[in-house]
Amino acid sequence: MILAHDHVHSLDCEHKLVAHDDHHDYLHDGHLHHVTASGVDNHVLAVDADHPDGCTPEHFCNEHAGDHVHGDNCGHAVIPHGDHVGYLVDGHLHRAHGDHCDYHGRVTV
Ligand SMILES: [Zn+2]
Ligand SMILES: [Zn+2]
Ligand SMILES: [Zn+2]
Ligand SMILES: [Zn+2]
Ligand SMILES: [Zn+2]
Ligand SMILES: [Zn+2]
Ligand SMILES: [Zn+2]
Repeated sequence: MILAHDHVHSLDCEHKLVAHDDHHDYLHDGHLHHVTASGVDNHVLAVDADHPDGCTPEHFCNEHAGDHVHGDNCGHAVIPHGDHVGYLVDGHLHRAHGDHCDYHGRVTV
């Protein structure tokens, strides 16, 4: 899907560059934008061996306070992952799940 997109992404822009498979996408307002010659594509991180979407109540997050609850404006970048949204915490992909975070693999920024 090619998006209508006013902003021109570049290495100097304020958006984080995220490694995705064999390319890089820009993290833009909770979306992964892939810049191609014909426009900007919307990408979603697939659920795969590197990014499983299971429940990991045993994952101990020392990246943020144990009682931190991810959500709108929690301060962490949002990344679309499968059918849900993940939160980027120091290169870890977290999903808010009840009273804990699920750990959904690593994301290289
Ligand atoms: Zn940008
Ligand atoms: Zn964009
Ligand atoms: Zn991509
Ligand atoms: Zn869970
Ligand atoms: Zn958060
Ligand atoms: Zn996830
Ligand atoms: Zn978390």
